[in-house]
Amino acid sequence: MRIERHLAGLFPEEINGILADSVPAFRARQIFGWLHHHAAASFHEMANLPKELRRRLEDLFGQPWPLNLVTKRVAGDGTEKYLFALDSGGTIETVLLPEEKRQTVCISTQVGCAMNCSFCATGKSGFQRDLTAGEITAQVLFVQNRLQGEGKQLTNVVYMGMGEPLANYEAVLRSVRLLNHPQGLNLGARRITISTCGLAPRIRQLAEEDLQVNLAVSLHAATDQARSAIMPINKAYSLNELLAACDYYTAKTNRRISYEYALISEFNDAPEQAERLGELLRGRLCHVNLIPVNPVDQEVRPSPQRIAAFARVLERAGVPVSIRKERGTDIEAACGQLRRRSLEGQDVAEHGGQV
Ligand code: SAH
Repeated sequence: MRIERHLAGLFPEEINGILADSVPAFRARQIFGWLHHHAAASFHEMANLPKELRRRLEDLFGQPWPLNLVTKRVAGDGTEKYLFALDSGGTIETVLLPEEKRQTVCISTQVGCAMNCSFCATGKSGFQRDLTAGEITAQVLFVQNRLQGEGKQLTNVVYMGMGEPLANYEAVLRSVRLLNHPQGLNLGARRITISTCGLAPRIRQLAEEDLQVNLAVSLHAATDQARSAIMPINKAYSLNELLAACDYYTAKTNRRISYEYALISEFNDAPEQAERLGELLRGRLCHVNLIPVNPVDQEVRPSPQRIAAFARVLERAGVPVSIRKERGTDIEAACGQLRRRSLEGQDVAEHGGQV
């Protein structure tokens, strides 16, 4: 097992293991509480820790979060998008989706992505590395810190940012357990959603974890031929293998699976494809999320009428369906778009964002 090197990725017993020679065990619990319960942004504010210990933490870890904010953009609808430079190299995106009763943060799990889905901006810039659990968790703590400043509280976490969460399985699971920790944010697993492009063996592994996390599966097509054309992972795990793994997940956890379906005009938006999708999913404990594609290359978004017609076919087949409300399109909140712009050397702050 890899050793986690960021403080935000360590459990209290591990923090204690690092400091044990010099401080009593309750200090590790205090530090964990400051980081994960209070979402403290600096060692300085950890007021009940001896000054010496705070200095030692700074020497060992630099800062509580291994992230540095490069750009923040706020969309007309309140969606906030952050571009972070990581202490260990690379840039990632994190998005806050504020609603009246829900504050959802969308986090990244890798720098770049190796899955190479044809419609995804992240895949276009290739894969650099896995994030550590600390880097994953710190994105949530950063947003929680910012929300609590306004008297609000984070309610949901979705692993739908850059990267394929199940390809970075160990760190992702560690971060889920950190978010879940009773002395930390104490975020219920049912408030956490992991999205995958379909790594079937990892879905089965996740089913064995005894965690009640929600699973979202990026389907985007209802036949192997169409799916393989836009998602190379389908050549490794066919629709049959994927759905069998999903059934196993449902059998083990009794959780309803969300299937994501990005509608691309002239490609997967015809009523016949909706019929086929209905046949594929009928009888399964699931929900379909229709997402009008965010054009990255040549993709075109279908008209609202065509999207509604697609949804009606699914409804008639008895498959629960919703059409995703678009958020933050004016700040390029879709997966990987802001980072891509920044990598291409364009001024990321130019589009009316507040930094
Ligand atoms: N790798 C994971 C999670 C990251 S992407 C996964 O594949 O599920 C989160 C979701 O956004 C996925 O459903 C992905 O397919 C979708 N997505 C990526 N690019 C998109 C685009 N241009 N338009 C609409 N949805 C997109």
